[in-house]
Amino acid sequence: MSTEQEIALGQQSHPSIVASMGLYDDQKLQRFISEKGMAMAKISHRPELPYQFNIIDSPVVNAFAVPGGYVYFTRGIMAHFNNEAEFAGVLGHEIGHITARHSARQQTSQILGTVGLMAGMILSPKLAQFGEQAMQGLQMLMLSYSRAHESESDKIGVDYSSKVGYDASQMANFFGTIKRISDNAGQSIPNIMSTHPDPGDRFNNVHQMAQAYQAANPATYAVNRDSYLQMINGIIYGEDPKQGFVENNVFYHPELRFQFPIPVDWQTQNSPIQFGMASKDGKAQMIFTVASGSTLDSAAQNTVKQLNLKVLENTRKNINGNPAIVLISQVQQQQQQGKPQQQQTAATTVQVATWLIQYNGLIYAIHGATTADIFTTQFPNFKNTAENFRSLNDPDKINRKPERIFVKTVPRDGTFKDTMSALGMPAKRLEELGLVNSMKSDDVVKRGSLIKVIGK
Ligand SMILES: [Zn+2]
Repeated sequence: MSTEQEIALGQQSHPSIVASMGLYDDQKLQRFISEKGMAMAKISHRPELPYQFNIIDSPVVNAFAVPGGYVYFTRGIMAHFNNEAEFAGVLGHEIGHITARHSARQQTSQILGTVGLMAGMILSPKLAQFGEQAMQGLQMLMLSYSRAHESESDKIGVDYSSKVGYDASQMANFFGTIKRISDNAGQSIPNIMSTHPDPGDRFNNVHQMAQAYQAANPATYAVNRDSYLQMINGIIYGEDPKQGFVENNVFYHPELRFQFPIPVDWQTQNSPIQFGMASKDGKAQMIFTVASGSTLDSAAQNTVKQLNLKVLENTRKNINGNPAIVLISQVQQQQQQGKPQQQQTAATTVQVATWLIQYNGLIYAIHGATTADIFTTQFPNFKNTAENFRSLNDPDKINRKPERIFVKTVPRDGTFKDTMSALGMPAKRLEELGLVNSMKSDDVVKRGSLIKVIGK
């Protein structure tokens, strides 16, 4: 790939990354990562690239790079760093992927995981075509590199972060945080660990490289814990309810003012572009999204075209005061070039129930998809969700506030556990608090030092 091609790839990917995940609005943090990013880019092997550094509005702990100089941190990873040096190490690692021209591969199973189809499910590959374009940005979170490239980037990360004056051994410490996250259920594995050269190895290698660098270049290397913690004071932590949240099997969207129930025991995944739901066995799924079109009829036409549907039924309905169209269709198999047309059976044909609902100036689409052979058993689930779509007026749900990281001064010497208790943190969140602070419950913390708590 030529430099021009790399830059073009970055420029093309950037809008879909922003559209699918959103940018985190915090000027102070944005200034910080741009300044540090540009300073490091300048001493890198390819200082001439048009670098850009952005913070993605996602609770997932991750950082990733796109060719051409685009580097992204999530607000989740920013909340989990405990000093500038940890940040600088990851920054160097990501810039390293760009300067060493590493080409990323997409991990098929994990890509499915981002579509709302959830990782670990067996799915008809055909179901994956839903929302494919919208997914492109999300896929960036799931890119992976070869083991050799990850090791090379670790080395470059040590060099770059040391060169700009940071203690690179802190980067190794951050691997400990990532290891704890990936050990916890329910969090997807960040891509900086996804090809996992053994975390222990990686920790030791980075430590050794950092020490070797510092021995060869004696100087004072910065960690900058307090200034970093003060800078992230108040950062949103975890899901932001204004982007939608699930409670007691109901999905609420406070900004868009709607709600609908979710089938019992189904898994869900929310992103700014769509809300995905899937049965545990993965055989049925629903996608809630915004349809393109200004009228119900044009939205129906666009949907049929985009998803390549053959419509079996088309009915008009009123759903809790909102005009709607309900389509029952089958996905038409696309003839692949050079391949013979495959025989379709009820077990391989994807059948879709689509509700297009006009509400508050937008047209929403709820697609329920499964294979034709089990469509009638799944249809009641689809219908119950779609036809209980209604306006949200409950102020308790509308005004739900996100949790944030707050930085406090430790009141007296003690263990991490006692300190959290003294600062009013519930015992059941000790592991989580230990994770964001990179501490264990018996670690000793000193009076007057800074520490993170979670609050509203
Ligand atoms: Zn990497």
